[in-house]
Amino acid sequence: MRIEQDVKLDFKDVLIRPKRSTLASRRDVELDRQYKFKWSGRLFGGVPVVAANMDGVGTFAMARAFRELGCGMTVALHKHYPLDDLVAFFDAEGGANVWYSIGITDGDVEKLRAFLDSRPQQEGRGIDKLCIDVANGYSEQFVDFVKRIRDIVPETTIMAGNVVTGEMVEELILSGVDVVKVGIGPGSVCTTRKMTGVGYPQLSAIIECADAAHGLSGLVCSDGGCTVPGDLAKAFGAGADFVMLGGMLAGHDQSEQAVVEENGERFLQFYGMSSSMAMEKHAGGVAEYRASEGKSVRVQCRGDVRGTVQDILGGLRSACTYVGALRLKELSKRTTFIRVSQQLNTVFGDE
Ligand code: 5GP
Repeated sequence: MRIEQDVKLDFKDVLIRPKRSTLASRRDVELDRQYKFKWSGRLFGGVPVVAANMDGVGTFAMARAFRELGCGMTVALHKHYPLDDLVAFFDAEGGANVWYSIGITDGDVEKLRAFLDSRPQQEGRGIDKLCIDVANGYSEQFVDFVKRIRDIVPETTIMAGNVVTGEMVEELILSGVDVVKVGIGPGSVCTTRKMTGVGYPQLSAIIECADAAHGLSGLVCSDGGCTVPGDLAKAFGAGADFVMLGGMLAGHDQSEQAVVEENGERFLQFYGMSSSMAMEKHAGGVAEYRASEGKSVRVQCRGDVRGTVQDILGGLRSACTYVGALRLKELSKRTTFIRVSQQLNTVFGDE
């Protein structure tokens, strides 16, 4: 047994110190990022915020709303859409602002192959961006799986995870991953930390993983734990290249979930992809999604996602003006975190 004595930090443990700035308005801030992916060689241009591949969030409707809004954000589609629906969506609307998602079962690979075979004439065989999710990003089986998928789609950008430590980020990048997904346990409907005692505070995970990835020309996506726009600013400030959101984008008209009305209020269920609700819904389709179970929460319907997107991007722009970052790209260089006490954060969080 060993104990690491370094303190590891979460979003709630820090604030961003303001800095002198010449920026007059948040409107002047450029949130688009341009990346060239290490393995696919493809270019990304857009706002690097991704809707999580979860029921109620990673939906076709969400992708449509993002596109119509012109916000530049992308959607990792949940993996439970039937093949025909996926093909119809890609045929009609293209795959430019979505990540096709898979797990590591034989069924996932068969479905992927069938999808690719149905669109052989398309560039990259029809998939720009692919997201591979697994219960435990530390298994050798996962690394082998990633290599296998890289061989099947050499020109597709691959995001894969989740892990939280530098050495595993390096291994995944060297195995063909363009963007490593970082986060074990921070999700709003995740119970991994409670059920297994395993996890890593998200801010420190981003800092350490981004450092490892950037050294190999790879990228990281911070996945989970953002509850307010300021958390995205902290994630980007810590070095994240992408940020993935579940709970913050849940409960909207784009959820494709059943809505229940009670006393004039509208509610829907938002649940983890390994929660018993997800298991029931997908009838044994997912034996396991993350290291442990997830939970289900009832959320009040929040209307169209457009308002939420504007809040998120407005918060990010504002964070950039506070530290004098003309572009999101500069946020990390301009960020100094100050550690704050839990008590201060409670007051801050309640404001
Ligand atoms: P959020 O933005 O809601 O805090 O976190 C979203 C992330 O939580 C997802 O992208 C995914 O990585 C993770 N997640 C989703 N469902 C589950 C689950 O059932 N169990 C666990 N452990 N993590 C989940």
